[in-house]
Amino acid sequence: MTDPRSGALAASLVKSPISILLAVLLGGAAALINAWPLPLFASAQLMLGAALVMLAVSRLGLVEALLSAAVAGSVIAWQWQHPLPLLLLMLEAAVVWGLCHRGVLLLYADAAFWLLLGMPLLYVAVMVIAPDDPSLTFVVLKQGFNGLINAAIASLLLLMLPSRWWRRVCTQPLFKRGFREKISYVTVLLLMLISMSTMLIYSSYLINSQQQLLLTQLQQDGNRIADNAHRFLGRYLSLTRSAGQWLPNDLAAQQQQLQQLHQQLPQWLTMLVADRTGNVIATSPLRPELLGVSVAQRDYFIEVLAGADQYVSGAFQGQGFGDEIIVAISAPWFDEFGQVAGIIEGSVDLQGMVEVLDPAPDQFYLITDGQQRVVVASEQLGLKPLTPISAGQGQLLHPDSLVQRRQLTAPFALAEEVYQIDYPLGHGWTLQLMQPLQPIMAQAQQQFIIGLGILALGLLVAVAVTRRLCGLLTSPLEQLARQMALPYHPEQSQRPLNSYAAKELQLLQSELTSQRRNLYAYQQQLEQQVAARTKELSEANAQLKKLAMRDGLTEAFNRRYFDISFESYRQHSMRSGQPLLLAMVDIDHFKSVNDCFGHLVGDDCLRTLVQRMNQLFSRENDLVARYGGEEFVLLVPYVGFEAAQQMLERLRLLVAEKPIAVSEQGQPISITISIGAVYADARFSKRQARWLQRADKALYEAKQAGRNRVRLYNLANHDNDVGSHMDSQAQLHSS
Ligand code: GH3
Ligand code: MG
Ligand code: MG
Repeated sequence: MTDPRSGALAASLVKSPISILLAVLLGGAAALINAWPLPLFASAQLMLGAALVMLAVSRLGLVEALLSAAVAGSVIAWQWQHPLPLLLLMLEAAVVWGLCHRGVLLLYADAAFWLLLGMPLLYVAVMVIAPDDPSLTFVVLKQGFNGLINAAIASLLLLMLPSRWWRRVCTQPLFKRGFREKISYVTVLLLMLISMSTMLIYSSYLINSQQQLLLTQLQQDGNRIADNAHRFLGRYLSLTRSAGQWLPNDLAAQQQQLQQLHQQLPQWLTMLVADRTGNVIATSPLRPELLGVSVAQRDYFIEVLAGADQYVSGAFQGQGFGDEIIVAISAPWFDEFGQVAGIIEGSVDLQGMVEVLDPAPDQFYLITDGQQRVVVASEQLGLKPLTPISAGQGQLLHPDSLVQRRQLTAPFALAEEVYQIDYPLGHGWTLQLMQPLQPIMAQAQQQFIIGLGILALGLLVAVAVTRRLCGLLTSPLEQLARQMALPYHPEQSQRPLNSYAAKELQLLQSELTSQRRNLYAYQQQLEQQVAARTKELSEANAQLKKLAMRDGLTEAFNRRYFDISFESYRQHSMRSGQPLLLAMVDIDHFKSVNDCFGHLVGDDCLRTLVQRMNQLFSRENDLVARYGGEEFVLLVPYVGFEAAQQMLERLRLLVAEKPIAVSEQGQPISITISIGAVYADARFSKRQARWLQRADKALYEAKQAGRNRVRLYNLANHDNDVGSHMDSQAQLHSS
C-alpha cells in the first residue's frame, strides 16, 4: 500500500509528461522573450521572459517549475557569463511554487519572495561580486521590480487565458477563496500593473528627455569648443599667411620684422624664415647658431614648397629652441615678383590652446592631430601629448546624431562610459568632447528609486484601501449568506444588513426572508395535513382490521377469526391443563321466520341473538363467532363442565323465554335455538375440524331430539372420544 499523501505529493511534484513538455516550451519562450529586453534607460533593461516561468510555477509541478526556470535562466546566465541570474530564478521558482501550493496567490507569493529573500540575497551577492558598484541599490531594486512585473503579468495572463487551456495539466482552481479576496486580488493586480507600467513609461520618458537635453548641451558645448580651437589656430594661421606676403628681402629687415611678428601673439614660441633651399635665414628669438641650418627635410617646408597655401603640422616635441609640445604653422614667403622665395614658420605652444578651449567642468576634451596622436587633452583623461589614440571604438547610441557612447579604456586613465561627440578642426585635427555617463545614470537611478518608493507607498495604501473597500462591498453579502444558512424561526426577526449594503442586496434579503416565511408556513400546514391524514389512515386501518375479523351484520367475530384463533385457544388450554368448551348454536326453523316476517326481521333476530350470547359469554377470553348463516360457534376456556353446561342452558333459555324481535306489525317474535357442544382437553385433537365435527354431531342430535335443546359431550379426561354426554333440556324439563 502506498501512502496517499506521498502519492498526492508526487502528483504535485510532476503533473504529467505533457506538463514537462509544456514547462520546457514555456522556459524556451521565456528565453526568447529575454533576448529582446525592454529598454528602460541607458543600459538598464527589463526582461519579461520570467512571466512565462511564473505561469509554470503557478500551474505545474515543482519539477516542471524548476525545469522551465532552468531553461530560461541558463540563457541569461550564458549571456551574462555568470550563474547568478540562473540561481536566482530557480530559487524564485522553488519558493514561489511552495507558497502558491500552500494557497498564497501568485502575486503575493512573488512579492514576499523578493522582499524577504530575493532582494536581500541579491544585495549580498552583488556586494561580493562587484563591491565597488555604485549602482548596487538600483540593481537590486530594479531586479525586484522586474520580478514583480513578471509575476503581475503572469497573474494577468492566468486570469485572461481560458481555464480549459490548463485543464489537462492542472485542475486546481485559480482561486479557492471568497468573493472579498478575489475582488481585492484582481483590483490590486490591476492597480499594480497600471501603476508599474505608468511609472516605467513616465520615468523612461523623463530620463530620455533629460538625456536628450544633455546631449543637445553637449553638442552646443562641442561647437563652442571647436570654435575656440579654430579661432586660436586661425589667428596664427592668418598672421603667418599675411606675413608671407609682405616679408622684406633684406635680411636685417627680415630679422627685425620677424621679431615684431613674434611679439604680436602670445603663444608663438619661436619663428623662423628659410629660403628656397631650406636654409634658415632669420629666427626669433635671434639664435645666430641656427642661421644656415637646413630645414629642407621638415614637413612644414616640404608641404609649403610643394604648393600648399598653408601648413599646420601635427603635434611634436620641439627641438633646438626647447622641448615643449608644439605645432608648426608655416606659409609661403613671396618675393617682390610674387614667386615663392622660401617659407615663414612659427611654433605655437599648445598650452595656450588649452587655456582658450573652455569646456564645461564635467566634460572631457581631446584634440588629436592628423596622425591620431594627442595634441591636447583634459587632465582627467591622463593622456600625454603625442600619445597615439585609435579612432573611436564607441558604440553608436543615436544613429542620426553625432553623439556616440564609448567605453574608455587604456590609454585613457579613466575606465568610464562616456557620451562622445567629434568635431573636425581641419588639417586632419579632430576635437572629441566627452560627457561621462555615470552622473546621468546615477541621477536616473536615483529618480527610479524615488519613483519606486512612491509607487510602493502608493501601492500599500491602494492595497489597504482596496481590501477595506472590498470588505465593505462583500460583508453584506457574507452577512446575508450567513443569515440564510441559519435555521428559520418565525418569531425571530431578520437583522437588517449593515449600512453599506447595496439596495439590490437589501431587496434580495427582504425577498429571501419573505420566501422563507412562506416556505415555513407552508411546511407547518403540510405537517398538520400529514398528521390529520395519518390519524384518518390509522382509524381506517383499525376499521379494516375490525372488518377483517368481524361479521358485518351481527358484529360477532367471523368464521375466519374463529379459524385463526382456535389453535391459540387450544394451546392455552394445553398449557393450563383446563379443558375447552366448543359449542355450535343453530336457530331452529329460521327459514320460516324469514319467510313469515321477511329477511330484515330475520337480520334483527340474528343481531339480538349475538347480543344475548355476548351478554352471557362476556369474559375476556370468551369467543362468540358467526359460523355461517344462522349458525354460531362459542369457544370458552377456563370453565368447568358443570358451569359449561349451565351457561349453555342459560343461553338456550335466554333466547327461548324472551321475544327476540318484533315484526313490522309490532308482533313479538320468539325463536329457539339448538346447541351442540363438546367439552374436551386440548389433547382431544390437534385438528379443528375434529372438534367441529363432534360439536356438529351433537347439534345434529339436538335437532333430531326435537330442537330447542342442548347436547353437550364431555370428553375431558376421557381417552376415547365417545365420552359421556348430557342432554340438558330433558333435565330442565324434568326439574
Ligand atoms: P332447522 O331447524 O332444521 O335448522 O331449520 P331451518 O329453517 O333453520 O334451517 P335451514 O338450513 O333450512 O334454513 C336456514 C335459513 O337461514 C335459510 C335462510 O333463509 C336463513 N338465513 C341464513 N342466513 C341468513 C341471514 O343472514 N339473514 C336472514 N334473514 N336469514 C338467513
Ligand atoms: Mg342451520
Ligand atoms: Mg336452523
